[in-house]
Amino acid sequence: MIKHYNIPIFIPELACPFQCAFCNQKKISGQDLIPDKQEIINTIESHLSSFKEKKRFVNIAFFGGSFTGIPKDEQEYYLSLAQPFIKSGQVNGIQISTRPDYINIDILKLLKKYHVNTIELGAQSLDDEVLQKTFRGHTADQVIESAKLIKSLGFKLGLQMMIGLPGDTLEKTIATAKRIVELEADNTRIYPALVIKDTAMHNWYKKGTFKPLSLEEAVMQTKKILPLFLNANIKVLRIGLHPSEGLVNGDELIDGPFHLNFKEMVLTELWADKFQDYFKINDKNTIEIIVPKNEINYAIGYKAKNKNLLKQYYQSVIFIKGETFQINTNIY
Ligand code: SF4
Repeated sequence: MIKHYNIPIFIPELACPFQCAFCNQKKISGQDLIPDKQEIINTIESHLSSFKEKKRFVNIAFFGGSFTGIPKDEQEYYLSLAQPFIKSGQVNGIQISTRPDYINIDILKLLKKYHVNTIELGAQSLDDEVLQKTFRGHTADQVIESAKLIKSLGFKLGLQMMIGLPGDTLEKTIATAKRIVELEADNTRIYPALVIKDTAMHNWYKKGTFKPLSLEEAVMQTKKILPLFLNANIKVLRIGLHPSEGLVNGDELIDGPFHLNFKEMVLTELWADKFQDYFKINDKNTIEIIVPKNEINYAIGYKAKNKNLLKQYYQSVIFIKGETFQINTNIY
């Protein structure tokens, strides 16, 4: 199996003229400075030297602000730093993240020339009211048009989405996820909206006009949309925001459903659904659950939630690593 590695280069809010209601890039990234040429090269080299797998696919990933929104010569400057690594075969290509309204045919031709293979768009929502309330500055139609153009030129497409934004509802979140599936995205990221210091949402929160989702609501909403992506073979690259210093020690995070084990909590609930029929009084005393190796921790549950629930109905609850999911109940 080929192991996929990304070498992340974070370029915070580089020339981004927008200020989306939820965003304070510098706070979220935990990094204020734009890396210089030597830092970028050092980052690439140190990542390359740490990769263990021989069979690998490596991308250099420019994350952060809107890459294709910066002047063309600056885009070419950053992209050119990656070229020697691509030429030498150490790196396979480049991945960038940008806004849906910063995509057109000329931009895509430039990205192709420099071996960009994957473009992630911050779609956030495919509901115009939510986009407008969060000051995104683009419409749902613009996301759709850009996504189609990206796919038509053979790039891999990522569409990030957020849940719990101002004006958002569970129905709108499900509709957004369904549109992402229809657009045949190759991957997605699901971010619950958080109240970050010094953002518009922080102001609305102080005035009492915006309330973030509770952790439980965010887990339940994510649980509803995750199977839509999994069933469509869309890779879910991230569930929940990456913990940066400010978020972990609480300086920058004002409120909202941030948890280091957010993904685990969501998958615990998905597994709990599979056990629903067994969370009840019965005449058996042993339950044996066979689960694929990479899923077993989620099946047992965050803080053993599912196992403990099952223990209320069975004297013995045994989880076994196996090939396919199977449940056996017995009387011994
Ligand atoms: S989310 Fe993107 S477009 Fe919006 S302010 Fe942040 S960097 Fe700019």
